[in-house]
Amino acid sequence: MTAQLMTGTDLAKDSLDRSARRTRDLLRETGVRPCLATVLVGEDLGSVTYVAMKRNRCATAGIDSRHVPLPVATTTAELVATVRALSDDPSVHGILLQHPVPAHIDERAAFEAIDPAKDVDGVTMWSFAAMAFGHLGFASCTPGGIMRLLDAYGVDPAGRRAVVVGRSPILGKPMGMLLLARDATVTYCHSKTVDLPAIVATVDIVVAAVGRPRFIKGRDIKPGAVVIDAGYNPGNVGDVDFEGAMERASLLTPVPGGVGPMTIAVLLEQTVDAAVRHAASVAASR
Ligand code: NAP
Repeated sequence: MTAQLMTGTDLAKDSLDRSARRTRDLLRETGVRPCLATVLVGEDLGSVTYVAMKRNRCATAGIDSRHVPLPVATTTAELVATVRALSDDPSVHGILLQHPVPAHIDERAAFEAIDPAKDVDGVTMWSFAAMAFGHLGFASCTPGGIMRLLDAYGVDPAGRRAVVVGRSPILGKPMGMLLLARDATVTYCHSKTVDLPAIVATVDIVVAAVGRPRFIKGRDIKPGAVVIDAGYNPGNVGDVDFEGAMERASLLTPVPGGVGPMTIAVLLEQTVDAAVRHAASVAASR
């Protein structure tokens, strides 16, 4: 068997075009142009690049972005105050706090300073709870992008066994919740899991979110399974042994060009959603 590639590039482009159209419509109808605030603490090269990519995509879609760079020595209190000010600023519709932040900062405290109505990166506890309970809120962007990929390639998770390898708050945990919400039977694996390959071998959908190059071996994948590689390791290497998985899976995301482009696409979609909701609430209060 040779897997079909599940690429995210075209899908992300369609999404970007849709966000651009919705931005133009919103501006014409209400005078509101969506604005994403990006907050970056320190000058980590990877984070600088990610933020620049996100701002470039915003510019392409006609979305304003306001960048707030902070020195690496910023304290938790200073970061919380900065984020709160953006939460209170009516001209900002979405807030992205680039993570990870430097180790001396309480990242959770900084995330929780984001107004849930502006949490377009889906990082607050409120957003997580809303997603887990099936309420209207913003999904964590990478899991949200993976669900769009599954839908676009006709993969219905209902009734299927899925494993999520990784349980980070921004990726693994919300991923499992979104699959559960779509009626998959979900197992989480993590660093304390015993005999992880045997679990992977039994499932129809594998999501690898580990941060270890080629961690999931092709030989452990059930023939015909759908394999989503969310990993991104130095050298453009994913968390799945790509060549091995190509021989066993029915569908497989490449790295790069699979999950990655979808993450930014969802960030932009949710920024436009936030601006639309803001404009509607302003109109309703008149
Ligand atoms: P993370 O916070 O480091 O979490 C990694 C998870 O993997 C943890 O839950 C950890 O388990 C688990 N793990 C580590 N070693 C393991 C092992 N030997 N066996 C089983 N589980 C193990 O990483 P993350 O932020 O979720 O990111 C994961 C990967 O996704 C990275 O490659 C990252 O670059 C990529 N990523 C991509 C995007 C994108 O847009 N494409 C976005 C975000 C992240 P414990 O909880 O037990 O420690």
